[in-house]
Amino acid sequence: MYKAKAYAASSATSALASTTVARREPTATDVQIEILFCGICHSDLHQVRNEWKEVMPTVYPCVPGHEIVGRVTKVGPGVKKFKVGDLAAVGCMVDSDGTCPNCREGLEQYCPNLTLTYNFPDKHHAGPVTYGGYSDSVVVDQRFVLRVPSNLGLAGTAPLLCAGITTYSPLRHWGATKGKKVGIVGLGGLGHMGVKFSRALGAHTVVFTTSPSKVEDALRLGAHEVVISKNANDMQKHTGSFDFILDCVSADHDINAYINLLRRDGNLTLVGAPEKPLAVSSFGLIFGRKSLSGSAIGGIAETQEMLDFCGEHNITSDVEVIPIQKVNEAYDRLLKSDVKYRFSIDMASLKSE
Ligand code: NAP
Ligand code: ZN
Repeated sequence: MYKAKAYAASSATSALASTTVARREPTATDVQIEILFCGICHSDLHQVRNEWKEVMPTVYPCVPGHEIVGRVTKVGPGVKKFKVGDLAAVGCMVDSDGTCPNCREGLEQYCPNLTLTYNFPDKHHAGPVTYGGYSDSVVVDQRFVLRVPSNLGLAGTAPLLCAGITTYSPLRHWGATKGKKVGIVGLGGLGHMGVKFSRALGAHTVVFTTSPSKVEDALRLGAHEVVISKNANDMQKHTGSFDFILDCVSADHDINAYINLLRRDGNLTLVGAPEKPLAVSSFGLIFGRKSLSGSAIGGIAETQEMLDFCGEHNITSDVEVIPIQKVNEAYDRLLKSDVKYRFSIDMASLKSE
């Protein structure tokens, strides 16, 4: 075991602060990574503040961070995919059983024995739970380490590991492609990646935002149309017209307004995970045989596919790079929907702690 520098929250109400955590020495199949950048996902904020206590209560201290890119510093003797000096990336998962039907289909994110990158029981017992990427290093089994295309900027690549795959996977699953009309709700970290992917996949892409100040950006990011969702008249114009809508909102909001915009057999998928349950009108779904779904990140093979797709299409996240010392300020801004469009922590800043 060795000590890694990290930023952690010690309770649901305390700010994140500098600390150290124990990490295991790499086992035969492990890769040790020096973390260069880590994105800030709204899920980090939800969990630091224990907003998901009903589903996955937070164990403190909590070191968040699951949008990790860095450089390999050590590999176990059984590691074939990576060597010291390679770029590498880690997303929301670090382990799964590998044998269940979901794992066998490459859908590790739905494995009943999944280990998430932080706040999940640590099978290696370096600590009571896993510790995430707001840290100078991490040790992960090679099965859960991704390759990074060499042409992409690293700060903007980090968010692909969660915001990227979480939007890419349902867009692919529900067939966002040429001839389809796709809506993206909420222009934050996930939403802005959703826009880029929907556009790159060829769909007619419409952004729904509560922030009039984001209209120009939405168009620049690839939207064909932008609707201010508070404007009922503008919403009305799209009634019954969408094949697919991806809801990326982090807070309570009216999803029935979006179900009304689906065409017959259209689908609304929730990736946003607000603290409280959302109300659904049965009638909105019944008239038109519409469906409501959820989706969690994506499997490892699909995450690699997404990264390679980004390499080919030169897609990265639009990031505001911050030092780790600004993480608490970044959380406050996230709550005000004031992020363009993902914070990416330059982990070199942790060296001075
Ligand atoms: P984010 O960057 O904070 O973006 C959320 C966006 O939602 C905001 O920018 C805002 O967009 C909109 N919004 C915020 N409050 C709103 C309100 N009261 N009413 C309507 N719209 C509102 O968050 P994120 O990192 O993209 O994450 C979004 C959600 O997805 C979070 O709940 C997160 O936990 C969840 N998530 C799920 C998965 C998964 O696997 N399913 C993975 C990652 C994250 P506008 O300003 O454009 O309105
Ligand atoms: Zn995330």
